Amino acid sequence: MTGSELVDAIRSKVGGTQQARWVVDDVAGRGQESCEIDPVLVTQVLDLARQVEAGRPLQYALGNWDFRSLNLVVDERALIPRPETEHLVEVALRAARALTEPLVAVDLGTGSGAIALAVAMEVPGATVHAVDQSRDALALAQLNAQRLGTDVVFHHGSWWSALPEFLHGRVNLLLANPPYVTETEYGELEIQLSFEPKEALVAGPSTTGVDGLGDLETIIAGALAFLANNAVVVFECAPLQCEALKELSMALGAAEIITDLTGRHRGVLVRRST
Ligand code: GLN
Repeated sequence: MTGSELVDAIRSKVGGTQQARWVVDDVAGRGQESCEIDPVLVTQVLDLARQVEAGRPLQYALGNWDFRSLNLVVDERALIPRPETEHLVEVALRAARALTEPLVAVDLGTGSGAIALAVAMEVPGATVHAVDQSRDALALAQLNAQRLGTDVVFHHGSWWSALPEFLHGRVNLLLANPPYVTETEYGELEIQLSFEPKEALVAGPSTTGVDGLGDLETIIAGALAFLANNAVVVFECAPLQCEALKELSMALGAAEIITDLTGRHRGVLVRRST
């Protein structure tokens, strides 16, 4: 069977031709369209296609996924890195260019390490701290750091309480893609999201009554002690939460809503200036 025939054989199982190409390229290598594929690799491709047909996200079935310029190991220990988050890193790094001091960055709720590792790889000289409450997620993030050969300081625990006091007043770049899906949404989306760790997705309401913003509110409340005077902050949230998150974020500085490449609201950028 050639690479092209294999793509044809699995495309209806994996959600389309593009997805089928990713699977075949990942297992057999690129550029195999007209080559005979080793039967062992054909079996592997068919097995992956069966997993995806049964509902396992393609990214987990492949076991790796690209995030910006990085290729990350991804599995059920952490959320799948998403394109909207890639864009938020872009916005954060652009805003952080105005800073004159070396970057001291914090990624709260790092999961696979995607955000922290992108900052560490893309900003030479940055010191990056990454926090997660899940030891499983941290193990995955550490594996990714090792594979990329980059240094991120990992901390286990809940949001700011995981970080040492010497960082007080020193963090000039804060990024967080914490849980913000509401219980109701989770109920509706469960089939798509059920392979991902629920604790990385779902958050309770804020004290101001906005569903899903509980964790972001906690992060904002703890941020003042850690942020440097001129810090840049980027938070991800769902489109309908952005106005409320902007209100909450004004406690930290001048806040604006970030739109993604299709014009949808996807987060908030804050520039602190004191
Ligand atoms: N963007 C994810 C989704 O909508 C949620 C990520 C998160 O909760 N941080 O599925």
